[in-house]
Amino acid sequence: MNNNPFSRQRIGRTGLWLWLVATALVLPLAAGASVAVENSRIWRAPDHTRLVLDLAGPVEHRIFSLENPDRLVVDISNARLNTRFDRLDLDSSPISGVRSAPRDKTDLRIVLDLNAPVRPRSFLLGRNEQYGDRLVIDLYDIGRVVEKTVEDVVTDGGRDIVIAIDAGHGGEDPGAIGPGGLYEKDVVLAISKKLKRLLDAEQGYSAVMVRTGDYYVPLQNRPQQARQHRADLMISVHADAFKNPRARGASVFALSRTGATSETASYLAERENRADLIGGTGDVKLADKDQVLAGVLLDLSMTATLATSLEVGDEVLRAMGSFAHLHKRNVEQAGFVVLKSPDIPSILVETGFISNPEESRKLADSAYQDRIAKAIFSGVRNYFTRRPPEGSWVATQRHGRPGEHVIVRGDTLSGIAERYNISVNDLIAHNGLPTTRIEVGQRLKIPSS
Ligand SMILES: [Zn+2]
Repeated sequence: MNNNPFSRQRIGRTGLWLWLVATALVLPLAAGASVAVENSRIWRAPDHTRLVLDLAGPVEHRIFSLENPDRLVVDISNARLNTRFDRLDLDSSPISGVRSAPRDKTDLRIVLDLNAPVRPRSFLLGRNEQYGDRLVIDLYDIGRVVEKTVEDVVTDGGRDIVIAIDAGHGGEDPGAIGPGGLYEKDVVLAISKKLKRLLDAEQGYSAVMVRTGDYYVPLQNRPQQARQHRADLMISVHADAFKNPRARGASVFALSRTGATSETASYLAERENRADLIGGTGDVKLADKDQVLAGVLLDLSMTATLATSLEVGDEVLRAMGSFAHLHKRNVEQAGFVVLKSPDIPSILVETGFISNPEESRKLADSAYQDRIAKAIFSGVRNYFTRRPPEGSWVATQRHGRPGEHVIVRGDTLSGIAERYNISVNDLIAHNGLPTTRIEVGQRLKIPSS
């Protein structure tokens, strides 16, 4: 504690009051009321393992590694163990066992036996609406580098359009919890996986998952991952709760440059932006999100990105409206941190309100999840069919490769010849056309003039 009352040179009136409060808080602890470690959880991410200890209050702690054999020691001052570690699922983690013992009469030592060396990091999380105080210990794998960037998938005739799918929440952060104990994090991961399968099966598209399992990814890492994969679009998938359990329907959100477009939008963005406090992020200093947002919005490229987000969002909303109740007919906007990529169009799809009993039941249903995934997929495909990114396979299909023209409705041979500044006869001869009849979708080679 850096506000140790005894180190104060002068204590003013407020200082004295603070001193009394601090003393009242500290004395019972010093007198032996130790802080209980009440529960523990473990989450496995692709590059690290997270061990979380639930605490009855804040603690001081230190960690250090020992070798031969590899161990991580966690010393917690003035604490006692009020749980058992034998229920922790250590499979696929580098931890082979957890031991503990009291130490120096008042302290607690926890030893993690490891089957591989790790790079450890620990931090405390204060209490919030979901949890009490927590001690988080992250064990980063050494020597297993998770491939963060993907090679452009270039098939004959253009690259794939890359869609980053961001299943909201995960790990420590369950997201909203439905009436039957249904977790948002599980529903959105299931829908995201279905969406990935659809996109990967479609020629010209490939999808990457921001989170692939049940672990937390900090909010700002999500758009970062989309950028590392050079995504053309990021879709964040959610199924949040609202204050009013009767609220229902799917909705689509894009970032707002100013305020939120509705009370619901503002409420949801505010809740989502607090996710790091629940999911836990080890970043020592969390950048002020409003500032980050303000800085990004100054970027002029954001205008174009936002316009695209709204257009894609509109297609997805329309596709979902074909079978699902819509909460709002238009794409809504609010200051979602996860949507703040300046250069990647990003939308957040609320697939339904998990707080609504009827919708919660639907969201748990695999067939309904399929329909939602299909709707998002067709919305995305509709958009990119109309506006394929340059160099993509989809663009090649629509516009032809260099030196090629794909016939669209309304084309005539003379029109095409004029457009490429060649004669109709040259065009016919170059393509060996038997007649002057052309069909939509037909590809003509264009002789260089
Ligand atoms: Zn959510």
